[in-house]
Amino acid sequence: MCESDGTTIHESEEQAIHDVSDEQNPTTFAELGLSPEMRAAVEAQGWTTPTPIQRQAIPTALTGKDIVGIAQTGTGKTGAFMIPALERLEVGGGLQVLILAPTRELAQQVAEDTALLAKGTSIRVEAIYGGVGYGPQNEALALGFEVIAATPGRFIDHMQRGNADVSKVKFFILDEADRMLDMGFRPQIEEVMRKVPRSRQTMLFSATMPNGVHDLALRITNEPYWTEAAPSGTLASGIEEKVFSVKPEKKPELLLKLLADPAMDQVLIFSRTKAGADVLESRLEREGIKAAAMHSDRGMKQRQGALQDFADRKVRVLVATDVAQRGLDVEGISHVINYDVPQDPEDYVHRIGRTGRAGATGYAFTFVTAGDIGHLKTLEHHLGRPIEREHLPEFDYAGAPREDTSRGSRGAKSRSPRGLGSRKPGELSEEELARLLGQSS
Ligand code: AMP
Repeated sequence: MCESDGTTIHESEEQAIHDVSDEQNPTTFAELGLSPEMRAAVEAQGWTTPTPIQRQAIPTALTGKDIVGIAQTGTGKTGAFMIPALERLEVGGGLQVLILAPTRELAQQVAEDTALLAKGTSIRVEAIYGGVGYGPQNEALALGFEVIAATPGRFIDHMQRGNADVSKVKFFILDEADRMLDMGFRPQIEEVMRKVPRSRQTMLFSATMPNGVHDLALRITNEPYWTEAAPSGTLASGIEEKVFSVKPEKKPELLLKLLADPAMDQVLIFSRTKAGADVLESRLEREGIKAAAMHSDRGMKQRQGALQDFADRKVRVLVATDVAQRGLDVEGISHVINYDVPQDPEDYVHRIGRTGRAGATGYAFTFVTAGDIGHLKTLEHHLGRPIEREHLPEFDYAGAPREDTSRGSRGAKSRSPRGLGSRKPGELSEEELARLLGQSS
């Protein structure tokens, strides 16, 4: 039996889940059986070797088999489902690849990644999501764009208006299925599923495999190939994590102290509340740190603007609520800071997955107050390991949680965030800290 995310996967199925560390899998794109055009597109993006989930999923998907992939954002999963779909569609054959994604940001991201992979071909791609006008979306659907990445609500809307012809869909892909079910999209997914041809190839990707997703996967796929990029709930490698214990009123100061380190060059901060994100944005701006905020009270244009400025490095810090948690794919985020402890352990996994992407090292810091200890314990229980603590006496609260070393800590012993040296928690003196964080800068 395999316990993952509270879900029990039965032995027979577990045995069928393919481990992406399997050495037998092809290790170069050439060996994956891609067309010369696709290999050129992949190379143009600077992808030299397929990621583990790509090695597993692509050759199998190219044979037409359904896929169920347990993979988080950051593992290269978009390539894993889009490369085989693009390889097998017919240009000019109408809408053939339909991807459903939970958020507009993810739908856009998938569409953008697809456009890059399809560069040099005549394949047309559109992202479809709510909160914007129907015009360009209607046009893309009427013209029979081959690939549509859509949020379920707006796509159903188009179907009900008779705008979307799904009768030629060959590839039906669900991205971040767990998130879609959490957001209550199951009825919309079922409705789309009833309309797409039975002969389709289905691929479902999900960061976790709770019962609901497992059931859905079994229902919508046909003898699928199961593959797992990383065990459910664990992290993409290359992320160094730390917990800072802090008095609530000292959080802004702690943040400013950390930001004094020039190594923190592109920082994504998560705030629990929209108001908190606004307050932080103005505080940082007052301190001369270029910052933008992104949350659901800001209009679509503002959100896109904030994201663009962050991606273009016009602002150093993006303060966001969970709206940015998934689907936000900005290259080179150096640090993720949980200004508040995420309430849901899965949110933690997704948030910190915004850094340390595709081989780069990232840093994930979480601020923990005395009142957050319960959430921290739940989180560590979910991860199955403790997170390294950093106690800075001037910010620390009395009775701060000490690291639970009884279970051993993957990464906690040998790793330390850039700029903080390899000391044990609590060993830094004021002076050392000031020097290491480059306070004078
Ligand atoms: P995803 O998990 O699809 O969100 O991909 C995460 C990031 O990895 C994106 O920025 C991709 O451009 C990048 N990526 C995907 N596949 C590869 C690869 N084979 N080599 C290097 N980077 C990749």
